Amino acid sequence: MASEGPKYIFVVGGVMSGVGKGVATSAIGRILKSKGLNVTALKIDPYINVDAGTMNPTEHGECFVLGDGDECDQDMGNYERFLDIDLSRGNYMTTGRVYLEVIKRERNLEYKGRNVEVVPDIPLEVIRRIEAAQQAANADVTLIEVGGTIGEYQNIIFLEAVRMMKMKKPRDVAIVMVSYVPIPGNIGEMKTKPTQYASRSLNSVGLQADIILARAARPLDEKRKEKIGVFCNIPTENVISAPDVASIYDVPLNYEKDGLGKILCDVLGLEDRPADMKDWEAFVESSKNTTKELSIAVVGKYFDTGDFVLADSYISVLEALKAAGYAQGVKVKLSYLDSEEYEKDPSKLSDLSQYAGIVVPGGFGTRGIEGIIASIGYARENKIPYFGLCYGMQLAIIEYARTKAGIEGATTEEADAAAVHPVIGVMNDQKEKLTKNDYGGTMRLGTYPCVLTPGTVAASAYGKEQINERHRHRYEVNPAYIEQLTNAGLVFSGKSPDGRLMEIAELPVSEHPFFLGTQFHPELLSRPLTPHPLFSAFLKAAGEKG
Ligand code: GLN
Repeated sequence: MASEGPKYIFVVGGVMSGVGKGVATSAIGRILKSKGLNVTALKIDPYINVDAGTMNPTEHGECFVLGDGDECDQDMGNYERFLDIDLSRGNYMTTGRVYLEVIKRERNLEYKGRNVEVVPDIPLEVIRRIEAAQQAANADVTLIEVGGTIGEYQNIIFLEAVRMMKMKKPRDVAIVMVSYVPIPGNIGEMKTKPTQYASRSLNSVGLQADIILARAARPLDEKRKEKIGVFCNIPTENVISAPDVASIYDVPLNYEKDGLGKILCDVLGLEDRPADMKDWEAFVESSKNTTKELSIAVVGKYFDTGDFVLADSYISVLEALKAAGYAQGVKVKLSYLDSEEYEKDPSKLSDLSQYAGIVVPGGFGTRGIEGIIASIGYARENKIPYFGLCYGMQLAIIEYARTKAGIEGATTEEADAAAVHPVIGVMNDQKEKLTKNDYGGTMRLGTYPCVLTPGTVAASAYGKEQINERHRHRYEVNPAYIEQLTNAGLVFSGKSPDGRLMEIAELPVSEHPFFLGTQFHPELLSRPLTPHPLFSAFLKAAGEKG
């Protein structure tokens, strides 16, 4: 009999990491949303870090920032983009976060003197968090992605939470295993055994997958589906083919080809309804019908990292550029350029002339910044559209201060704490924390309002006077230099409502086709179906340069 309560779908990973659980979770969410269901999503990360703010992005991928300032895993960005919803702190947990809460409660005597144990108290806290997120969103379906791979030690306590929830609400909980089906080169045939083992590992912690998403280079044939079904104990039709696709945005449409939405509704006792994916289909179509390719350079400090890692470190920037491009019939081709090359050999700067536009994304630290500053100077002088995101704005201001406002040696306190001309400076309330090495969560984080100056590039791109954008930075434009910079021609076109903080800096169109930097991270608010206005404006200018 159909149950009326809210439904929960746990997404777990089998065989190996990196097969796209985050995209799978997001795509399932998109399908269910298209069926008119209210969907929310949570990510569980099995590491001790309390948030993703202290982790190196080249190791862990981008640190995504939510509206409430939570620093979290890049998958949260995928959920927001695919589901077109705003998530909050309650949608993200790590082992560290869960233990911290339980220990805090124990210290507060909230367990009333009883023995507090890993089992059941940790899984109970996990379940409490999942149910709280469901309630906050009033969700019909709550998706929970369990980080890590089945069989490893780290996420076992989370799988125990799944088991306890499934016991409590057997008809309201579905388990989806995203597995991997390799095609070894020397055999040339799809092998299902690793998936069978993963399924058995899942059984060994008291769980049975309801659905298996079989990631593979190619679609699965019927024989493989049958085999996985028999050995993993599920109906053949619950084995969904998840082949590699050209774009992650194809994934929901591909799943629907195998009827995933209906199968999930059946498993959960939900009445099935048609999925209205017209908007999504049109978006995917636009991504395939691009008529023009634009080469955009991303300049930063990059060392010993492959393209894959870099693409992961700046995933939101990449997705924001892609989305803005598709809406203009443009395919964006990104090149990641190492700024230290320009420090070693400034003559290489002229290579930048081949790009239609230059982006400097967010960043931290000193290494490579002189090379970035030099490339911004090149973009400014040679009228190459330039878009600076956070550090990209700060460094553009430093470049302008040095060359146009005559502030010799202008820099950021991040590079030189004793600088004579810190045009970018640390915020006073952060100073104290930094002296104590208290780095966790010390930045200006999350959504802040910004007032735009009418008639500027920013105001015309947004088409409104007040905006809200997400931040993640420690430093700000130093108020002591604003007048000098303004007199030298730099326009602060976005400011905090009290006028104290400079949020956008730009050059007028009479001076440059597009030269704009934001203290905030606009990429965090770009969505596939609603590209961000500043990314659209930047690409339009880049398209005009060609
Ligand atoms: N490092 C700079 C700051 O902390 C910029 C941060 C960023 O680009 N996210 O202010």
